[in-house]
Amino acid sequence: MTLALAWLAALVALVAFLAAPVVVAPLRRALVSKPLLLRFRQVMPRMSQTEREALEAGTVSFDGELFRGRPDWHSLLAIERSTLTAEERDFLDHEVETLCAMVSDWETTNVHKDLPPQVWQYIREHGFLGMIIPKAYGGLGFSAYAHSEIVTKLSTRCASVAVTVLVPNSLGPGELLLHYGTDAQKRHHLPRLAQGLDIPCFALTNPQAGSDAASIPDFGIVCHGEHEGRRVLGLRVTWDKRYITLGPVATLLGLAFHAYDPDHLVGDRDDVGITCALIPTSHPGVEIGRRHMPLNAVFQNGPNSGRDVFIPMDWVIGGAPMLGKGWRMLMECLAAGRGISLPSSNTGMAKLAVRATGAYARVRRQFKTPIGRFEGIEEALTRMGGNLYAMDATRALTATLVERGEKPSVLSGIAKLHITERARQVVNDAMDVVGGKGICMGPSNFLGAAYMQMPVSITVEGANILTRSLIVFGQGAVRCHPFVLREMAATQERSRRRALREFDAALYGHLRFAMRNFMRTLVLGVTGSHFVRVPDDVAPETRRYYQQATRVSSSLALIADVAMATLGGALKRKEKISARLGDVLSQLYLCSATLWRYEQEGRHADDAPLMHWAIRDAMFKAQAALDGVLDNFPNPLLGALMRRVVFPLGHPYIVPSDALGHEVAKRLIEPSATRERLTAGMFIGSPDEPVGVLERALAATIAAEPVERRIADAVRAGVLASATAAGGGDADLARRAVASGVISEADAALLARQRELAAAVVRVDDFGPDLGTSLLVQSGDAGRGVSTQPHSTRRAVA
Ligand SMILES: Cc1cc2nc3c(=O)[nH]c(=O)nc-3n(C[C@H](O)[C@H](O)[C@H](O)COP(=O)(O)OP(=O)(O)OC[C@H]3O[C@@H](n4cnc5c(N)ncnc54)[C@H](O)[C@@H]3O)c2cc1C
Repeated sequence: MTLALAWLAALVALVAFLAAPVVVAPLRRALVSKPLLLRFRQVMPRMSQTEREALEAGTVSFDGELFRGRPDWHSLLAIERSTLTAEERDFLDHEVETLCAMVSDWETTNVHKDLPPQVWQYIREHGFLGMIIPKAYGGLGFSAYAHSEIVTKLSTRCASVAVTVLVPNSLGPGELLLHYGTDAQKRHHLPRLAQGLDIPCFALTNPQAGSDAASIPDFGIVCHGEHEGRRVLGLRVTWDKRYITLGPVATLLGLAFHAYDPDHLVGDRDDVGITCALIPTSHPGVEIGRRHMPLNAVFQNGPNSGRDVFIPMDWVIGGAPMLGKGWRMLMECLAAGRGISLPSSNTGMAKLAVRATGAYARVRRQFKTPIGRFEGIEEALTRMGGNLYAMDATRALTATLVERGEKPSVLSGIAKLHITERARQVVNDAMDVVGGKGICMGPSNFLGAAYMQMPVSITVEGANILTRSLIVFGQGAVRCHPFVLREMAATQERSRRRALREFDAALYGHLRFAMRNFMRTLVLGVTGSHFVRVPDDVAPETRRYYQQATRVSSSLALIADVAMATLGGALKRKEKISARLGDVLSQLYLCSATLWRYEQEGRHADDAPLMHWAIRDAMFKAQAALDGVLDNFPNPLLGALMRRVVFPLGHPYIVPSDALGHEVAKRLIEPSATRERLTAGMFIGSPDEPVGVLERALAATIAAEPVERRIADAVRAGVLASATAAGGGDADLARRAVASGVISEADAALLARQRELAAAVVRVDDFGPDLGTSLLVQSGDAGRGVSTQPHSTRRAVA
């Protein structure tokens, strides 16, 4: 007993001795904070202005909760999904519906190599190019959420029209002017953009600077020059841009370049920094180049350039005070725009793929069975349905956050990256399901155009590999972590005294935060997170998911800290570790959005399998990402130790079950309220177009199935000879079934209708020997929409 007490006293003394430098402030500063600050100053590269602006741009919202290890689920569930105003709803149901009906991917790509002239006119006249411009300037004044819904719908129809509309409404002159323009600039440009009198584009990318856009070599020298007969202050700009969407038809060029002021005409700095200006494309010296052809999509895209082009200072967005502030402007607008444009367009394409492919899988038969009933196809359909549920949830939540005034820099990166990645998976799966039907291009191919668009979405607005490897965790760790940004700021502080004070405060908070995460992660691991408190009012079937997501969030917070503490600045180069940590954060956001959607939509029991699949898939992926980090930790011992803390009892998550997958797939191959919700807002089009024919064929197939079962039963019972035995084929079997009273005349008509529609669905287009020109001469009606009709559509079912 005495020995035990002595041991205990010794242990307490040891802990007190070790804790003293941390708990006693002056000791802590001298023994811990000061040496660490010195070390930090040595290892941390000095942050450039551009890097700092990129890191600081935008706002932190629910990502902060996910990163800190203890998400406040109440705050997520309190976010009410945005809704459309009556005017926005009306626009979606009329103007957008009309625009969809006016275009087709096939015709824009193969006949006009552009949007048809009447479509351009409709877009301009009905305000599509100025949806986000306030009414005061003649725009539609629509919300971010309405913008998202509109782009989603357009993308279920025609990628080129969606891109044409989304670009001016996201990162471009309109958005930049609204936030940073002078009053005079707003009064001049915004009404012209709103009415479609000007077509804008925004040019950042240079052949030498793609992903590394901050290093653009395009430059402008502050100087005096002649403008409209007067000598004014301005810039002489030289640039070479490529890949610029709408560039070839733009009348107003938004241009990013690096400004220099060697004669100090506006300040005392030579290097002023990235600057954004608006230049009419009619301005002498502006060279609008030819067109690129982005994987057969014919939205306007091309290069432009200029050499020593003088522009007045008034053309700099925001005027002289905004010289050099371009990077921050771009980063802030990107934080919002990136959360809307590609997430919406890719969700739209996925909706098309899911709805059309689900129907196809029921109508198309092989081995006398709808292919959608084969387990192999079911797996693909399951991924398609589950992914789309999570994608649309993430799109809606991100758009709602933007609508509420957030500029979610990390969440918009996650939304862009993961929605486009999942869209690629959805469309790839769909291509596998429909086989040759998706490969042979023509007006009846409903999928090929979306398939070709996928790499464009992956590449633009932050290429996905870069976004995953560098941005999501890199920016998340700094922006969402409660202490890292403060610590970094302290290391950059010039006054040594203030630096130590601020660094010490941040470091001490950080240590407490890390200890709490360590203890919580261990406890949650040992208890399986069963005792985590969850808001009382969540759907009972989702309670465990909140608990499990809290556990993953806690693990992320802990591992992120350990990684940052041990790797420091090297973490930036350890992209594989950084990417996996970003994956954990991303999967947590996708889970949160899925849970949010389930609640917002009223917990439809029929949709539950989609929700369950999406959550389990995301949890499993988060677990795999954590595994990847722990297995590859540069210090293997630390990795093994952390594994004991994060997964003390082994892996808790398994892949979604086959039985659950079956429930998801089933919902894709028959009409239901769930299928309607999953593909809500999709343009179906006329009954004679590919999707319309598929919808009719699906209904006819389902109606015909009981009739077919009766015939099959009669054949099995020996009442009827099978088609093979009788040799008369399918139609003859139906006739004999009527004659022997197995089915009625009406049933036979149903069967015939189903056969006719199914034949139309599986048919693919064929053309003359010279694919190019024969497209136009086949119907002898070149230049009009009908001219491209190849054989299959001319034989289509009325
Ligand atoms: C159809 C289309 C439309 C476009 N529209 C516009 C527009 O309107 N305005 C405009 O200014 N630009 C536009 N762009 C340009 C677009 O933003 C760039 O293509 C994009 O930034 C990528 O640049 P890059 O193509 O030169 O690829 P690169 O920068 O050469 O990248 C190649 C690969 O390297 C990866 N990579 C690069 N750096 C890293 C890193 N540090 N870590 C890991 N991976 C990395 C990238 O992820 C990518 O996978 C458009 C491009 C296309 C194709």
